Amino acid sequence: MSMENTVVSPTQLDIDKVRQDFPILHQEVNGKPLVYLDNAATTQKPQVVIDALTYYYQRDNANIHRGIHTLAERATAAFEETRQAVHRFINSNEPEEIVFTKGTTDGINLVAATFGRANITEGDDIIISGMEHHSNIVPWQMLCEEKRANLKVIPVNDRGEIELEEYKKLLSERTKLVSVVYVSNSLGTINPVEEIIELAHENGAAVLLDGAQSTTYLDIDVQALNCDFYVFSGHKVFGPTGVGALYGKRRHLEKMPPYQGGGEMIRSVSFEKTTYNDIPYKFEAGTPNIADVVALKAAIEYINQVGKSAMRAHEEELLEYGHRRLSAVPNLRMIGTAEKKMNVISFVFEDIFHFDIGQMLDARGIAVRTGHHCTEPLMSRFGLEGTVRASFAIYNTKEEVDQLVEGLQRIVKMMGK
Ligand code: PMP
Repeated sequence: MSMENTVVSPTQLDIDKVRQDFPILHQEVNGKPLVYLDNAATTQKPQVVIDALTYYYQRDNANIHRGIHTLAERATAAFEETRQAVHRFINSNEPEEIVFTKGTTDGINLVAATFGRANITEGDDIIISGMEHHSNIVPWQMLCEEKRANLKVIPVNDRGEIELEEYKKLLSERTKLVSVVYVSNSLGTINPVEEIIELAHENGAAVLLDGAQSTTYLDIDVQALNCDFYVFSGHKVFGPTGVGALYGKRRHLEKMPPYQGGGEMIRSVSFEKTTYNDIPYKFEAGTPNIADVVALKAAIEYINQVGKSAMRAHEEELLEYGHRRLSAVPNLRMIGTAEKKMNVISFVFEDIFHFDIGQMLDARGIAVRTGHHCTEPLMSRFGLEGTVRASFAIYNTKEEVDQLVEGLQRIVKMMGK
């Protein structure tokens, strides 16, 4: 797929060019130019990703792995090329350590249902943090209920940071798994995952990192991180919905029982006994989401072409600018002021319901998310039902931040606050 339309220098984004790459941005919503600030929920797709999907269905569509005809070979090659791309993108030791999933939630459930069921027994501890997304809470809760194990939670301080000293106190020989988010979707906090992983390993526990928010902007090297599992979603990295990847160390994946039974995950089947395929296929039962996997490669190539360092620099500039401008809005209280954070600003107004703010901003063409952001326990920690969340991506501009600020100022004035 040609990428020549995106001209960027390695250190600075050509923002106009980047915006041209995303067709959805060029529309009016409620009579105003769209300002899309809901990127932590999902990112928009560049034309190259949309083209990759269309091209696949127009030219290559066939079921994979089982056919010898040309289309099946092309489809299989394209599918496996994405595995190679993900392997290089997060620097796994080998492509066989990459399992395709429906997304982050599916990846966590896979690990809970396989590694978890095989390794957690009565009285064991699983540790998560107080800022986890529901998808990194509920699967462990279900597992703990089934196994009579304990779910322990690392507290979060007033700035929205993990309390490492408390984490150390929770660790023991009973700890079998630590599962934490790398970057918080509600607050933007970047967690000290290197330290968390090292401490867990010292106690003999495996570590899963929820990479739903970290994979877009941070350089991910799962070997350097030394995590046991890493999960992310395609739709947060400018790729399609319904596809994601699970990284697992080979020694874990090989020992884990299969997730679902069906086609592709088997080596041979008889009514007496079934033997299972090698990794990663052992975990990929049934016809996968081929087209979206194929298009995920275009998203990864797009990120590589734009360059994570340029993307990160742009996102940092927007965050700093957003913090400065939003701090000046009367009665606005920021939630989540961690020393290390990225691309998310969460805030509340004492007397205006977050949902109303979201609706009034939408009337001005500005898309933000309101509510608990699938982190209800974290909201409770701050005594809140929810926040307004503005989250940035590479195609957002300072002018859009200004529009958000102006919109909020008008709302405050209108509400007489
Ligand atoms: N974890 C985090 C931190 C997230 O931001 C999200 C998505 N909001 C998820 C998990 C779940 O991802 P998905 O819905 O793509 O499975």
